[in-house]
Amino acid sequence: MTVEVHDLKDFFRRAPLPFTSSRREQQIPDNVWTKCANCGELTYQKQFNDALKVCPKCGYHSRISSREWIDILADADSFVEHDADLQGIDILGFVSPKDNYEAKLAATSERTGTNDVVMSGSASIEGLPFEIAACNFDFMGGSMGSVFGEKVARAVERAADRGVPVLTINASGGARMHEGIFALMQMAKVSVALTRLARVRQPHISLLVDPCYGGVSASYASVADIILAEPGANIGFAGRRVIEQTIRQKLPPHFQTAEFFLEHGMIDAVVPRSDMRATIGRLLRLYERPTSSADHREHVVAGHQ
Ligand SMILES: [Zn+2]
Repeated sequence: MTVEVHDLKDFFRRAPLPFTSSRREQQIPDNVWTKCANCGELTYQKQFNDALKVCPKCGYHSRISSREWIDILADADSFVEHDADLQGIDILGFVSPKDNYEAKLAATSERTGTNDVVMSGSASIEGLPFEIAACNFDFMGGSMGSVFGEKVARAVERAADRGVPVLTINASGGARMHEGIFALMQMAKVSVALTRLARVRQPHISLLVDPCYGGVSASYASVADIILAEPGANIGFAGRRVIEQTIRQKLPPHFQTAEFFLEHGMIDAVVPRSDMRATIGRLLRLYERPTSSADHREHVVAGHQ
């Protein structure tokens, strides 16, 4: 094929190729290229999707939704959603000069097509059943309000009733302050539900993904038998700047990352997204119990009394 010079000029003007840094600034069609939030490199959208939205250049694990997590982890067609109809209400009538909670909740629900942060249900990996509750950070910064807490608590209680493990995937900015004390009490509510699961000797596997902060990291997400995290995930309670200002000291560069938490014994493993399904599948197999769930539950409960 021969191409005239003026055609080439036109071609380069229209084609969003990653030749130079100035090219990166140009408008990129959503469905062709994606730009890494960490290194700025461009990747074909299909290649990026095939790599589970991990940058092939720098390994940055971009944020994904709860639905995407379930698609990555669960056996095909095994996921049955529960409590999708639970909807938050503005119980305190929260309005500030910048914020109207009721309107914000309605607008976010419409934009995301979900009622709140958490998607929960029953699923399996390699045929091994478990309950799952996964956060979508895109919904109001993954903030934990009444619906969030209720859905996670119900997932844990369902796991206890069925005698199966529960997996929580946690990405959150913390408690949803628009709900005040009703948000804060979710930390205790979910933690209490987890004691029921412990009583039937089933594990809570907690996966911390970027970012996991505040009341979620400070409560149930850290109360787990196994805690995994994704590479580079930011994890903590308060943010770096707040801590540096409070203690008047400079913190190490990788402070509050998954790797820092692993070095200090706070989590069990840092697992790349491509290995996550196999890793959680292996854990479910290790915890698999030979007895039927009902028999086992009666046995354990009787043993505790
Ligand atoms: Zn990158």
